[in-house]
Amino acid sequence: MYGLFYSISRFIKYIVEIWVLVMNQIIEIIVPCYNEEQCVELFCNKICEIFDAMEKFDFIITFIDDGSKDATLSTIKNMSARMLKGKVQYISFSRNFGKESAIYAGLSNCTGDYIAVMDADLQHPPELLIEMIRIIEEEGYDCCAARRKNRRGEPIIRKFFSNQFYHIMNKLTIIDLVQGSTDFRLMKREMADAVASLTENERFTKGIYAWVGYKTKWIDYENVERAAGKSKWSFHSLFNYAGNGIIAFATTPLRGIVYLGIIVTIVSIIYAAYVVFKAVMYDGVRSGFTTLIVLITFFSGIILTTLGMIGEYVARIYMEVKNRPLYIVKEANLHRNDRQNHVEKSVD
Ligand code: UDP
Ligand code: MG
Repeated sequence: MYGLFYSISRFIKYIVEIWVLVMNQIIEIIVPCYNEEQCVELFCNKICEIFDAMEKFDFIITFIDDGSKDATLSTIKNMSARMLKGKVQYISFSRNFGKESAIYAGLSNCTGDYIAVMDADLQHPPELLIEMIRIIEEEGYDCCAARRKNRRGEPIIRKFFSNQFYHIMNKLTIIDLVQGSTDFRLMKREMADAVASLTENERFTKGIYAWVGYKTKWIDYENVERAAGKSKWSFHSLFNYAGNGIIAFATTPLRGIVYLGIIVTIVSIIYAAYVVFKAVMYDGVRSGFTTLIVLITFFSGIILTTLGMIGEYVARIYMEVKNRPLYIVKEANLHRNDRQNHVEKSVD
């Protein structure tokens, strides 16, 4: 009797193993969205179109609703419940935590074989996924990332600051940021896990991708206009984003302050020697009121700037030691599909 049970269980095990082998690989697409009610359905339709033509792969779209105030979540729920049952899942935040937190939430909950990160507004052309999959499968890369060929359609001032940002980042940090790089990429699950293992609060995901390493191939694409709605980034928020990126990966500004201090001290010593020399040689010191005012303002400026710069780092240390979660989930609908254990979990 025991032998029969043993044989049956072995047989079932083999069937399951064969099933896992022939089963399609799953590409999980993480899509952060904030007030994208006009885009999410368009996005899903486009993805369905693309995967219809691919036999070897299945897809799951994981929307991260970043505290949208419009009908984004209800549209996602609708698609998840009706048209695209099992293909669309979501995590919805209790408020707007920002795109970086949304990407982190997606990466730390993903279960697919390959993980893609894409914007909801179709500015990341979904057709590129086909080429990305080919590159990873056939050329032996761990990741394929997209970079904009140009910034056509963007204001000149934004283009200028953006170029400067990449220039500064590459000069000041050990990581190498590629000009025009976007968040759009497809990567092996292990790379997604590595990115999610960095749990810092002040996230700069583009830098983290570069930091974790892995073999990445860049492919170019033409800048595309938004499918609908408008960009969530103001000039001010982009400026903050750039500042965060630099501070997250570079301590060079702090080193710069030390050098500045040394240079100013040397210049002051030389100047003091000159004043003393003049006083001794020519008997008496001139009133020098203007010099005094200029020096006081100059040094006050330097002191305030350096204090401010140090303050920026201290503020980030403060935020990190608090160790707050990067996001709070209000509701979620994750069809966890763990292939090893063959368990289907659903969080509601
Ligand atoms: N996004 C987000 N949280 C935010 C701001 C943006 O999840 O606080 C999402 C947004 O819905 C979109 C992606 O991030 O899917 C890129 O945003 P957007 O298109 O506004 O940026 P841009 O393309 O202008 O850089
Ligand atoms: Mg966009």
